[in-house]
Amino acid sequence: MNILNKILIYPSELAQGEQRLKGELSQSVFDLKSYDLKPVTDVSFDLRVNQFDQEVLTQGEVSVVFQSDCSRCLKPLEKEYHLEGLAFSMEVDEEDECYDLTEELREEILIRVPQYFSCAQISAEGACEINYPQKSIDNPSSDSVQNSPSSNQDDRWSGLDAWGGSDEGRDNQ
Ligand SMILES: [Zn+2]
Repeated sequence: MNILNKILIYPSELAQGEQRLKGELSQSVFDLKSYDLKPVTDVSFDLRVNQFDQEVLTQGEVSVVFQSDCSRCLKPLEKEYHLEGLAFSMEVDEEDECYDLTEELREEILIRVPQYFSCAQISAEGACEINYPQKSIDNPSSDSVQNSPSSNQDDRWSGLDAWGGSDEGRDNQ
């Protein structure tokens, strides 16, 4: 299959209605020199693109394999991501010869992929050569890094539950 360096779409195509774009986008678009995260494969994409006046809406899914080191034991790890439900819109100028979806898609993928991996995320057993006791702290619960602060709150509440369920307090009175 022809590997693309850009995903382009033409206003004349969109004028005919929804367009479906399927193919492979070169991993070179990520250009992650200063990151620990590295793409291992090109990005296979399946997108549906619609234009509403000056807005182009793109929806669909991609698959790509990234490599990063385990944040605990530094073992290199690879993980394949099937990212579904991608959606982004772009303001466009109808004077443009074509619209370039590449940068928006790149951003959309990087938002969904954590920059740091751990063995626990990759293997079901969560086996890691280095086993810190504070396992929950450096182990993001999902594919979104932004979720981790809320888990601290949950931990506090679960501590309260344990205290409330104990009879020891009454014995001391
Ligand atoms: Zn590890």
